[in-house]
Amino acid sequence: MTITIDGTAASGKSTIARLLAERLGFRHLETGSLYRAITYHMLKNEIDINSEEAVCRELSKIHIEVVWDSSGRQRTILNTEDVTEWLQDPAINATVSIVSAYPCAREFLLDVQRNAAEGTNIVAEGRDMGTVVFPQADLKFFITASVDERARRRYYQLIEQGKNVTYDDVLKEIVERDLRDSRRPIAPMKPAPDAILIDTTDRTPDEIVNHIIQLVNEARVI
Ligand code: C5P
Repeated sequence: MTITIDGTAASGKSTIARLLAERLGFRHLETGSLYRAITYHMLKNEIDINSEEAVCRELSKIHIEVVWDSSGRQRTILNTEDVTEWLQDPAINATVSIVSAYPCAREFLLDVQRNAAEGTNIVAEGRDMGTVVFPQADLKFFITASVDERARRRYYQLIEQGKNVTYDDVLKEIVERDLRDSRRPIAPMKPAPDAILIDTTDRTPDEIVNHIIQLVNEARVI
């Protein structure tokens, strides 16, 4: 079974996808990490992110693989390095949506994502899971929340991690990233026509996951 969870930045979709996968005993494929890993490589190797040609050329030096550790957490392997811990850096947040708009980057990750999902029950999370990568998914969701709530959640998450950010910076970054993700010509962030829309503004992750599990059980009966 394939369940897709797409949605806006900091909407709570990762938490929901992770809890859902745990409850169902499915794998959680978190595809934002793959675009983040490409961006990490480009920044580390001082490739000009704004040059589509330079980024596309550099992709030939990259191999990305997804593995899961014994507690079911996804690890992202870039060439031979486990880069999972480095992917939430503010420098990556600020640039990842430039890289992810390049068709070569999307093409590069298509097989990585489909191979990772091969032969297993999966909760696939990202921006184009229901529209492009897994259009035949059994159930599709699109998660969002008000922009103030999303900025507030992300701000406290980053402060907890000891990052030096202001609320206004976080709000600006989220708004810019969503605009870039939804306006790009290829695989823009948008709900699939058959996706169920969920607003997480005033609801807890547990409430939402319970609701989704009910729908999964109904789909399994049918
Ligand atoms: O989900 P997360 O916030 O980690 O995603 C980081 C970025 O990766 C997004 O803002 C988007 O630019 C890109 N992305 C994408 N398609 C996906 C998943 C993520 O373009 N399926």
